[in-house]
Amino acid sequence: MKEKIVYWITGSQTLYGDDVLAHVAAHSEEMANYVDKHVPVTVKYLTTCKSSEEVVEAVRKVNAEKDCIGIITWCHTFSPAKMWIKGLSMLQKPMCHFATQYNEKLPYDTIDMDFMNENQAAHGDREFGYIVARMRMENKVVVGYFQDEKALEEIAAWCRVAAGYAFSKEVKVARFSDNMRDVAVTEGDKVEAHIGLGWQVDYYPIGDLVEYIQAVKEEEVDALMAEYAQKYTMGTDRIEVVREQAKYEVALEKFCKERGGYLGIVDHFGSLHGLNQLPGLAIQDLQSKGYGFGAEGDWKIAALGATMQYMAGQKGTGMMEDYTYDLEKGLCLGAHMLEVSPQFAATKPEIQVHPLDIGGKSDPARLVFEGIEAPKAIAVSMVDMGDRMRLIIQKIKLVKYPHPMPRLPVGGLMWQYEPNFKEGVAAWIYAGGAHHTVVSSVVTAEEMVDLGNLWGVEVVLIDENTRIGEFKRQLMWSDAVWKTRR
Ligand code: MN
Repeated sequence: MKEKIVYWITGSQTLYGDDVLAHVAAHSEEMANYVDKHVPVTVKYLTTCKSSEEVVEAVRKVNAEKDCIGIITWCHTFSPAKMWIKGLSMLQKPMCHFATQYNEKLPYDTIDMDFMNENQAAHGDREFGYIVARMRMENKVVVGYFQDEKALEEIAAWCRVAAGYAFSKEVKVARFSDNMRDVAVTEGDKVEAHIGLGWQVDYYPIGDLVEYIQAVKEEEVDALMAEYAQKYTMGTDRIEVVREQAKYEVALEKFCKERGGYLGIVDHFGSLHGLNQLPGLAIQDLQSKGYGFGAEGDWKIAALGATMQYMAGQKGTGMMEDYTYDLEKGLCLGAHMLEVSPQFAATKPEIQVHPLDIGGKSDPARLVFEGIEAPKAIAVSMVDMGDRMRLIIQKIKLVKYPHPMPRLPVGGLMWQYEPNFKEGVAAWIYAGGAHHTVVSSVVTAEEMVDLGNLWGVEVVLIDENTRIGEFKRQLMWSDAVWKTRR
């Protein structure tokens, strides 16, 4: 993400004279450079704005630069906020207001009015905050000394969100099937998603992919088989079956690159004419490379997965499905028929071939592994409520399998729900959360809340503080708010 740029823009005015403004600029540059070393993107001091014209000029540059994903604003001194109205009304990228200060402590023995006039962030940040609130802008406020670890963590998280937001606007999904017949929750308004989230979802007949599969050369399969041998244990002697999956992977990747830069893939076990296996290993390995995947036509999960995988730096993130409960232990076992990402593997995944009772195709090759443990993880779902998208985020704890499952030939995860099993499951169901999710042990709930706010979708959080009575009332109020927004 370091190629992505966040510009640091400081607010001031001409009242203070050149000496003070020179200090403001030097301090701002020093602070931006310090922050830059602690966040995943590049933070660069851009300018100190002293007039409406200068704000407009800065915002024009921010909007125009492709790699610029947002701005950090701060007012070292007082900056009369009417000068920000024109520029901020043009701003097309996320904004973080860093309520910070150049000095951590007050120099009690020497402080005088010169010091007060040069260091008045408490004053300036309020004037700036008013105009942002008045203009109903979506921004993030982070408070703290610029070298404070917690404040820097929050800035780093916001940078990941801003980068994810920019990435999301580039997400294109190649969809080789419509939604599974009769299934409701995987449906959604693709035009609305394109407008609001930036997700472009394009349908292709599976025959278009079959042409790519038929054109794959043996050498290309050999090369990918060598990669598999590096990454995975070969737990089958049915090598031809594995080679078939390698062929699918080569074809899918080539298709995605050549046909428009697709970052997400959607298939359906019931729509595989011309393929003799359901893509399993192929989809798993593609997820490890960053492609988002949605099963049974679920394009929302493919796009959400690609975005969250990017934010996570391709670690611990992928499509998941709530499958079956251990009611005694209060656990859920999540998996899918094949396509669980090896980003979730706790040990080296093994390639195995087993029959698949669904879809009527040949035995598919897949990666089998036990999932990682993570005390702080999230499951995220996006559902279409008819008049808006609802992003549902639940905190979960990924736990070790309590018992081996030698006859279960898939990758999987087990987890506990927050705030507890009963209320966690009930809240998810009340909110209309889907069975397909994107699970991540890297992206945080707070980051997804911020991303949902940037997207302008309804955000529902289920965490350690969730209580069902209050949660249901929150859903009711939220519904009323969203009806007035349309
Ligand atoms: Mn499914």
